[in-house]
Amino acid sequence: MIQSERHIYPSYDQFVSRHNKEWLLQQRSRVIWLTGLSGSGKTTIAKGVERVLYEMGHLTMILDGDNVRAGINSNLGFSPEDRAENIRRIAETAKLFVQNGVVTICSFVSPTHAIRQVAADIIGAKDFIEVYINTPLELCEKRDVKGLYAKARKGEIPDFTGISAPFEPPQRPALEIQTQGRHVEDSIKQLLDYIVPLVQHDGSK
Ligand code: ADP
Repeated sequence: MIQSERHIYPSYDQFVSRHNKEWLLQQRSRVIWLTGLSGSGKTTIAKGVERVLYEMGHLTMILDGDNVRAGINSNLGFSPEDRAENIRRIAETAKLFVQNGVVTICSFVSPTHAIRQVAADIIGAKDFIEVYINTPLELCEKRDVKGLYAKARKGEIPDFTGISAPFEPPQRPALEIQTQGRHVEDSIKQLLDYIVPLVQHDGSK
């Protein structure tokens, strides 16, 4: 059914524009999309970056896989259809935040080119900054932060990315962060060095 048949008329012209909100917050909003294997370091880096941005006076929002699946997407599983719907809702949510001037950090495995393309298309290429947290599978498995790899190896988690489902590394990410042999603070700094200039406001109204 098309939208007009349901009598839905979305209005995209806001009373207070994104431009105004960016001025209010003195920042440029962007979506920082972290992709990588489970245990690669997405959540750790997202939290560290958020802490520093907060100290610099920036308003941020982290959208994280587990939190979203525990809440807005709690009715979704891991079938291909549900994974696609999961990403669609996340991207639409990120778009709402970015339209409100908020620097939005998305932390999701988002394992395939197709899934990340859906997110990029919804959010818009200009606002979508793809960051590949590149950690070898063996190291992620050794870290096994949540014990998921052990379970996946025992066959208790079907379609687990890296073990029984593919991870397609981004071909041209805006930034690639290799965490192997690097301190957490170095990885956080690498991302900050890239995004701080992008979110700086020049003060013009
Ligand atoms: P993800 O969110 O990608 O599933 P997590 O951030 O939950 O991964 O876990 C990554 C683990 O790797 C954490 O225990 C973190 O302390 C550790 N780690 C070690 N070195 C790094 C690094 N350079 N960058 C990020 N995390 C690292």
